[in-house]
Amino acid sequence: MLIVMKHGASQKNEDKVVEYIKTRGFQAHISKGDVHTVIGAVGGKIIDPRDIELLDGVKEVIKITSSYKLVSRVFQKKDTIIEINGEKFGGKNIGIIAGPCTIESEEQIMECAKALSKMGVKIIRGGAFKPRTSPYAFQGLGEEGLILIRKAADKYNLAVTSEIMEISQIPLFEKYVDILQIGARNMQNFNLLKEVSHVKKPIILKRGLSATIEEWLMAAEYLMAGGNREIILCERGIRTFETTTRNTLDLCAIPVVKKLSHLPIIIDPSHGTGLRDKIYPMSMASVAAGCDGLIIEVHNNPERAICDGAQSLYPKQFKELYDKLKVLAPVCDKVIS
Ligand code: PEP
Ligand code: MN
Repeated sequence: MLIVMKHGASQKNEDKVVEYIKTRGFQAHISKGDVHTVIGAVGGKIIDPRDIELLDGVKEVIKITSSYKLVSRVFQKKDTIIEINGEKFGGKNIGIIAGPCTIESEEQIMECAKALSKMGVKIIRGGAFKPRTSPYAFQGLGEEGLILIRKAADKYNLAVTSEIMEISQIPLFEKYVDILQIGARNMQNFNLLKEVSHVKKPIILKRGLSATIEEWLMAAEYLMAGGNREIILCERGIRTFETTTRNTLDLCAIPVVKKLSHLPIIIDPSHGTGLRDKIYPMSMASVAAGCDGLIIEVHNNPERAICDGAQSLYPKQFKELYDKLKVLAPVCDKVIS
């Protein structure tokens, strides 16, 4: 249920509404728009909306039948803009994240960080806990990996994003990482979503391999309902009958999500295609379709990469792409800082 306050309603009016819904078991999430304040009431028992409409300062009560409320455009009209280390996602901004699939060694992550920072990248990616399809594949360096990526990021003034796989890893991520990534395979790990929602850091929520957009938004709702408002949605390709590419990158998700939600949506063309030569066209297409950012795998030596070398760009290729994206963005009424 969303309670839209009248233009000019006082703080006292707002407090009264919050107090009222709380006594009926709801949590209140407030969104202050330019004209109206909207109070999202979640979690409580069904009440008659007319009881709320009678309170001073209330314009209307909107009953939301969809299963997500706080992530919806009805709750918040304005785009959510998230800023991390000077890089912005949302609104007119396109944020860029780049780095290797996984952290392999100090030398590898240092080289990647050095090359990327030189190009102006502000956020580095790299997995330390890897969700691998085969139990025999490299599982990541674990805490050691997080220590190494933090060291590299600190040296080159970068923020770090890395994938968290389970609740017990939260303290490690609070210590070493700036943006938590929830991977495609964990998009519906509801216990993880609930716990991570309390962490005071931005979260990248990847779309599940076979998740509908509605399921994905409901997963984001778990994070928002738990109190986290800095959520970046990430389309990373879905599973279809097509086998030429690793996944089918659903670029139509961009306009669909932007209409339904105020949250920024970024694209991962690396996992979305699985093929290095497809990264350039899909990144350009993502910007043209209105994305709020890109997360791209870049490796200092892709042939030697332990994981996902075939979809990783060489630093030089990334530089060419980055330069072109900066030319394209203004044409699409966007900026890449
Ligand atoms: C990753 O980004 O390293 C990753 C494993 O991606 P996904 O969860 O989208 O498969
Ligand atoms: Mn990867």
